Amino acid sequence: MSLCFRVLGSGSEGNATLVEGGGARVLLDAGLGPRQLAERLLSAGVDPARLDAVFVSHEHGDHARGAAALSARFGVPLAGTRGTFVAARFAHAKLAGYETLAAGETRAIGQMQVKALAVPHDAAAPLAFVVSVGASSLGHATDLGHLSRGLVEALRSCDAVLVESNYDPAMLRDGPYPWSLKERILGPLGHLANGDVSRLLERGLGPRCRKVVLAHLSRKNNHPELALQAAEEALARARRGDVRVTLAPADGTGWIGVAASRGAAARGEGQLRLF
Ligand SMILES: [Zn+2]
Ligand SMILES: [Zn+2]
Repeated sequence: MSLCFRVLGSGSEGNATLVEGGGARVLLDAGLGPRQLAERLLSAGVDPARLDAVFVSHEHGDHARGAAALSARFGVPLAGTRGTFVAARFAHAKLAGYETLAAGETRAIGQMQVKALAVPHDAAAPLAFVVSVGASSLGHATDLGHLSRGLVEALRSCDAVLVESNYDPAMLRDGPYPWSLKERILGPLGHLANGDVSRLLERGLGPRCRKVVLAHLSRKNNHPELALQAAEEALARARRGDVRVTLAPADGTGWIGVAASRGAAARGEGQLRLF
């Protein structure tokens, strides 16, 4: 029944996270090329043909690039919003199946539950996910321009949270991107800055959470040390020495276990409601 996950790719080169537990095995996003995706699955000890589903958060290439080919080649059904289906042009692909999933809905595979949540991002109908097995849950949110109240509420009940820490505002401002792209990233439908994540960790993290993984770091507009330092300082200010924060490198992580926290009741669920 235990829940664990493994990032297979993170950042603009391609995002995918393998999640296992409760008799199910799914991918959240398939933004690597199909060959590279299959290689990384195999090196994680997983036969691509034995995936139960690929949940696609949105149509951007760094999240959806390998999804159609993986589905066709290995017979794995996809799941996502109607908007993603249209925008990713999945109708033109020979998919093994597409399960339409609206924000707020949950799909069960074995004992695993995958809940879809709306996120503010410049895509057709983008999602974040909360994956639960028994009492353990993982929140998974990349590509969002700001922390919406609904998302923060959902992440508060999670034992582990993977969240993007995309850019440092000064690096983005002084960096090489054209101004139109900078405005897009900075805007309410762009990406989260290190400071946004700090706010989440300092004031919006639930008492059950013990693990935070910072993902989708920009190579040009962020430094891993800056993102990590901001997160660690925020956790220190919140006196959350019980939370361990790590970075997801571009080529992924090892397996990370998600255990249900026993201390939630003792810390007082719901005492922090600042969003
Ligand atoms: Zn992305
Ligand atoms: Zn995106």
